[in-house]
Amino acid sequence: MNYRHAFHAGNHGDVLKHAVLARVLDYMTAKDKPLAVLDAHAGIGLYDLTGVEAFKTGEWEQGIGVLMSKPQPPDIENLLAPYLNIIRALNPSGGTQHYPGSPEIIRRMLRTQDRILLNELHPEDRNTLASRFLGDYRVRVSGADAFQAVKTALPFTERRGLVLIDPAFEVTDETDRVIRMVQHGLRRQAAATFMVWYPVTTLEFGDSLCDAIKTLGAANTLDARVMVKVPHQDAGLAGSGLIIINPPWTLHDELQTLLPALALVLGKSKWGKGSVRWLTPPR
Ligand code: SAM
Repeated sequence: MNYRHAFHAGNHGDVLKHAVLARVLDYMTAKDKPLAVLDAHAGIGLYDLTGVEAFKTGEWEQGIGVLMSKPQPPDIENLLAPYLNIIRALNPSGGTQHYPGSPEIIRRMLRTQDRILLNELHPEDRNTLASRFLGDYRVRVSGADAFQAVKTALPFTERRGLVLIDPAFEVTDETDRVIRMVQHGLRRQAAATFMVWYPVTTLEFGDSLCDAIKTLGAANTLDARVMVKVPHQDAGLAGSGLIIINPPWTLHDELQTLLPALALVLGKSKWGKGSVRWLTPPR
């Protein structure tokens, strides 16, 4: 396992993932009923963007760095508020030194009645994560393979739940693993919400993952994408996407407003494209 998220924290892929995650949680926490969230690939939870790793790639500068430096129109600011308010709370003197990973966003948005399952396979990162979340009675940290974590956690005892699947895509069969994970998760709790992040290095890669998810037969699935440059082989991360099964009913319209605006900010040389479409319509 070579991948460490500290090198990539706050990049444009994180901005898409975390802004949408915060919108989904904002909706799911509006009702009092308890909620469970499984973050199957959790990372270390919180990142120092002035640290050696983030400094080495500088990826965050074209992600959260550029987003925080440009004031947004009020409708976009409203949609981003659940996400950006967490960053502002972590950096009371301004700036973006402390950047929240998905576990920190989840922790800050969930309530006393909710349950948070954080899973991370890398032993060192898991230890960092565990010590960071020690003392929060809502949180359980595990170090299993993500597939096993999904199997163990589902079905949640709570009727409402979210599963975040956010692998590093560093192994060749990762796409197949993701499909099997979602398939398994749906079998165990078809009504849960599943969010799968994927990189777009070539359009074919994103499209084939979406096609494979469609074959699982779940209705009510969105595909949301933000592209920041023209994709072609060897050009690195040109954008990223999120597949969301059983999204909040409000999310499609929100993302129709938010994603083009995000793409405009994050896109290189004005080549930004943000879009959302139904992969399978709601029943
Ligand atoms: N979700 C995190 C966030 O948004 O802050 C970032 C996660 S990062 C993209 C992917 C993480 O998955 C890495 O920390 C990596 O160590 C972990 N990982 C890789 N393979 C895994 C596996 N099979 N099971 C669980 N975690 C894995």
